[in-house]
Amino acid sequence: MSTPPPNHLLFEGPGEMRALCRAFNWAESALGAVSDWPQSLRTAAQMALASPFPNIILWGPDLIQIYNDGYRVVMDTQHPKGLGQFTRECWPEVWHINEPIYQRVWKGESFSFENSLYRLSRSGKLQDFWLTIAYSPILDESENVGGILVTLFDNTAKVLEEQKRNYVLQLSDALRLLTDSNQIQIEASRALSSFLKADRVGFAEVMPDEECVVVSGYYGDRLPDMKGTYRVGEYDPGLIGRLQAGQTCIRPNVAEDESLTTGQRDAYALLRLGATVTVPLIKQNSLIAIFFVSHEEPRSWSPNEIALIEETADRAWMAVERARAEEALRSADRQKDEFLAMMAHELRNPMATIRNGLNILNHQKDTDSQATMLMMNRQVDHLVRMLDDLLDVSRVSQNKIQLKEEQLELGLLLRAAVEAVEIQNEGQRSKIVFTPAPSPIHVLGDGTRLTQVFTNLLINGLRYTDHSGEVQVSLESNDCEALVRVTDNGIGIESDQLKSIFELFVQVDNSHARSKGGLGIGLTLVNRLIAMHGGRIQANSQGLGKGSEFVVCLPLAKSGPIKASDDKVVPGSSCNQRILVIDDNDDAGMTLAMLLRINGYETHYRTSGRDGIEAAKSLSPGIILCDIGMPEMDGYETCHLLRQQHWSKGMILVALTGYGQEKDKQLAREAGFDHHFLKPVDINELLVYINSLES
Ligand code: ADP
Repeated sequence: MSTPPPNHLLFEGPGEMRALCRAFNWAESALGAVSDWPQSLRTAAQMALASPFPNIILWGPDLIQIYNDGYRVVMDTQHPKGLGQFTRECWPEVWHINEPIYQRVWKGESFSFENSLYRLSRSGKLQDFWLTIAYSPILDESENVGGILVTLFDNTAKVLEEQKRNYVLQLSDALRLLTDSNQIQIEASRALSSFLKADRVGFAEVMPDEECVVVSGYYGDRLPDMKGTYRVGEYDPGLIGRLQAGQTCIRPNVAEDESLTTGQRDAYALLRLGATVTVPLIKQNSLIAIFFVSHEEPRSWSPNEIALIEETADRAWMAVERARAEEALRSADRQKDEFLAMMAHELRNPMATIRNGLNILNHQKDTDSQATMLMMNRQVDHLVRMLDDLLDVSRVSQNKIQLKEEQLELGLLLRAAVEAVEIQNEGQRSKIVFTPAPSPIHVLGDGTRLTQVFTNLLINGLRYTDHSGEVQVSLESNDCEALVRVTDNGIGIESDQLKSIFELFVQVDNSHARSKGGLGIGLTLVNRLIAMHGGRIQANSQGLGKGSEFVVCLPLAKSGPIKASDDKVVPGSSCNQRILVIDDNDDAGMTLAMLLRINGYETHYRTSGRDGIEAAKSLSPGIILCDIGMPEMDGYETCHLLRQQHWSKGMILVALTGYGQEKDKQLAREAGFDHHFLKPVDINELLVYINSLES
């Protein structure tokens, strides 16, 4: 049996590199014939070829390469010619990095680098690789360094995967914070453009004709502006069809793309689109938008990049749709608030007239009509309250209410609210029982608003009990809070509705509650006003027919001055003042003038600013009550002109308006008004004001 040449014994075994080594003419290489190799090189080569990890041996001062099967991916186009080659000749592009390392290893040092970025040639193009590499010296027979063993792990796939994961996470976080759909498109485009180093990324919405797209949000400052409408057919007639079929369309090199005509290639070139990826965004089977990524230079997009582009398109578009839906909701909410405010305002004028008319009729003495008046008055009060609530709830929702906070004694405030509701409830069998606290309890709050809160709860208590019902009100405090309990023995509330009754327009869905009317606004307003005071409200009930309890908790105030709201109305006082009413609404103005006349004043009435000014000059009234919203000359202008007249000195000018916001009051003050009343004017409040002018 003939002995195989030593070459063959050393390289015996499976694998391409062993086979290449067997066939290689080593005798003609710088290493010389294998039979002449020192044992140290033979052992090192045998170990390198047998290792499952990619490695290469660089032997001798010229660093001649012997590498194994695992290392072929690193060699790429240098394989197989790199076998037996000087490493300097094989890798000239990284020699400046490698040489100092090899020199140190040659002196006996070992090195390793973890996940280092290398830009290596791949099929003729430079590509990024993340490699963990270990360098160690191999000693020869004389125990000097005879070669270098380089072992490596290619972590590129892992690093790319991690980068992608981080990118997707950051993208989701960034998009979640955005509420503007256009901003979302721009931010997603910016993120992908910087991750892929692509020149231009953006969204275009497909027009209903499906021929044109409108580029909306995009990123790519380096290139000329691209916003606008584009006819897709001028670039690629088949594109829309392919996108409609759900295909992502890829053009790595537009300039040399033979499926395009010269005209189409020129159209692309004009926009400096050298390489493109276009992703369809399809909803309910129709193409609604596209996501495009482009590069000025030709670029072959990897499958990983395409997958990432598609993922970005989907995530961003979901965020766009979420933002648009939220914006639609916000806008509907705004419209609702504006509608409520407008409706309540529009209803004020007729309400003012009816209220004044009723007050006039109240002065007739016939007992039957007195009872009817009482009933009608109650109904008008109820309507006015509903309007006030409606207007207030929309103002609270729009953050237009500002609390005028002061130290209040809650017991006094509650008593006044109880008395006011009792007056309205006159003639009914149901009653309110108030148990005050043993000592005064102070809170910091807006007296008018808190009175509104408790009046609402008391009226609900009376409304949702039978005729002989009873509403208990009690006041107590603990270390930090005041507690007001409004308890009734009425129809009760089912446990699943105890929370929802505080939502706008929610009314309990049972026939008993429904039959009592109402709009489902009061408790929403109560809840929000209490929250504005830093407090909270809770509804309790054992169930239907078992009564209800509303507990209001308000933070206690540090002790301080006490404000009791117990203004008393003094109707019919003997004032000789002359009052001029200016209002373009005949009914409202005339009835107000009549009411004041009944209460002992000399009144005059005009329906326009101009007539009003003339009348003021000739009549010299002490007080002018002037409507604001009037055609031709509004109340502000009327007041302004009046104030310019020397004869108007000493006249009190009072604005009457349906708008009661701070800015309206401010406008009235600026125009020269002394005071501001919200329509429909409460005649008692007006009389109190006029009396206060006298004293
Ligand atoms: P409204 O009373 O105008 O309908 P609210 O917001 O004040 O509106 O109340 C919402 C709903 O809560 C009412 O429709 C009623 O069904 C229920 N509710 C309120 N207060 C009581 C109460 N004291 N007892 C029983 N049900 C009540």
